[in-house]
Amino acid sequence: MYPANIEDYQRPASLQEAVAILRGYEPGDAIFMAGGQSVMQAMKSRMVRPRCVVDLQAIAELKGITVDEGLRIGAMTRYVEIAGAGEISSANAALRDAARHVGDRQVRNRGTIGGSCCWNYVASCMPAVTLGLGAAFHLLDAQGKTRVVNAGDFFLGPLETARTDHEVLTHLVFDAAPRTGSAYRKWGLVTDALPVVGVCMKVSLDAAGRCSAARMSLSGLPAGAQRVQAGEKALLGSDGSRESVARAMEAVVDAVECHTDKWADANYRQQLIRTLGQEVAATAFARARGEA
Ligand SMILES: Cc1cc2nc3c(=O)[nH]c(=O)nc-3n(C[C@H](O)[C@H](O)[C@H](O)COP(=O)(O)OP(=O)(O)OC[C@H]3O[C@@H](n4cnc5c(N)ncnc54)[C@H](O)[C@@H]3O)c2cc1C
Repeated sequence: MYPANIEDYQRPASLQEAVAILRGYEPGDAIFMAGGQSVMQAMKSRMVRPRCVVDLQAIAELKGITVDEGLRIGAMTRYVEIAGAGEISSANAALRDAARHVGDRQVRNRGTIGGSCCWNYVASCMPAVTLGLGAAFHLLDAQGKTRVVNAGDFFLGPLETARTDHEVLTHLVFDAAPRTGSAYRKWGLVTDALPVVGVCMKVSLDAAGRCSAARMSLSGLPAGAQRVQAGEKALLGSDGSRESVARAMEAVVDAVECHTDKWADANYRQQLIRTLGQEVAATAFARARGEA
């Protein structure tokens, strides 16, 4: 299929230029394109019919990974760059886990963290991972005003976010606390395809090696990227043993709605949550201890 008629294509070289283009259109009439891995399909199927496509590829300030007080990742940073980023520490290593297994090589070479989060597809990995890590989303609007939205308020449900049509996502910021480790793992019918279920976990350990703070999130269920606070609470005080993690994952299974579709039935999804939960816990605890 071909997209409906598009009046204009713009490739601004700076954020100021991008914002100026937005001011010339009603909200929604000008649409951003990052890697194009989701929005091109949406245009071809006429799910979206923009008057103008604003290609963000030439805006250098939207790209790259830097570490200052926290970890800062530009919205236009591609999966392939995140997958190989040595500057991402144990606290946010789940980002690397996810980026290494998104789609195929072509998707990883084009797709961006910002595009994935702004699209917020129900089974996508990055929305669940940025939610599990507690990222802060930095937005710039057509008037040049900035605001910061926490991951918990950014993802509103599948294909819905708190970003308005007149805002561009500029970058994400992540805490990099000491004695903290995170991990992400997904399972799909095809290796490196969209997950049937994905689990992200982040744990901080006290001096005795017990979990003093936890975040947990899932992808692939009807609610899309979701945080599971019942599982987080159950993990507090855990030393990472299989028994304590099993109790936490049982709390997760009890708290979420698993569905049956052609890929997997509800029981199978529950079992995936338990199994993947053990795997990510083992990795996240080991990373927090500095062992992995
Ligand atoms: C074959 C295939 C396999 C895939 N497998 C997986 C997988 O295993 N796991 C997974 O998570 N995903 C998977 N995906 C989806 C992939 O991750 C997409 O790359 C991602 O959803 C969109 O990123 P993008 O950079 O291409 O964004 P685009 O498609 O360019 O944009 C997506 C949306 O975000 C908006 N947008 C983009 N950037 C910004 C910004 N900076 N500010 C404001 N709005 C913005 C656009 O306007 C658009 O609405 C797959 C895709 C394909 C084609």
